[in-house]
Amino acid sequence: MGSLGTDHPFPADAFADVVADNARYAERLDATDLPGRAAKGLAILTCIDSRIDALAVAGLHEGDAYVIRNAGARVTEDVLRSLVLASSLMGVERVLVMPHTRCAMAVRDEAGIHAQIAEQHGVDTRSLEFRTVSDQVEALRTDVVRIRSLPYLPDDLVVGGAIYHVESGLLEPVDA
Ligand SMILES: [Zn+2]
Repeated sequence: MGSLGTDHPFPADAFADVVADNARYAERLDATDLPGRAAKGLAILTCIDSRIDALAVAGLHEGDAYVIRNAGARVTEDVLRSLVLASSLMGVERVLVMPHTRCAMAVRDEAGIHAQIAEQHGVDTRSLEFRTVSDQVEALRTDVVRIRSLPYLPDDLVVGGAIYHVESGLLEPVDA
């Protein structure tokens, strides 16, 4: 595509299983006329951890909710950007911040992760902030407040925090 050439063709071998399984998914999908809005008026912020099926956790399917993910489910500038759009233009009325137990961002500290990457890959990553947390509940409370206090968000946006237990599949609501 475009006129700048294709120096990096799609790495078909590396993604062969993904493309093949996608074809089967597309055959089953019965959602081609879903609107882009989230039918449940819900946005979920959670971690990138592979154990979390963010929609299934809350009994949701395609078209029901927005899912925003990053390492540790932390509230960053980019998360706030997405939430402003989702709540102002796309019908989101409630936000659930959902970090999880056994999260790598909560069991190691910032220095430890930098050191491990340096040791294993010889790369100095200290210009990055990984946003590790030492107290997961306290960090969750802070993140909920960060969303609630952003002036660009609708006053009636409901924001809640809950920790997802990967061992049991249960959500533990947290008072913020
Ligand atoms: Zn995690």
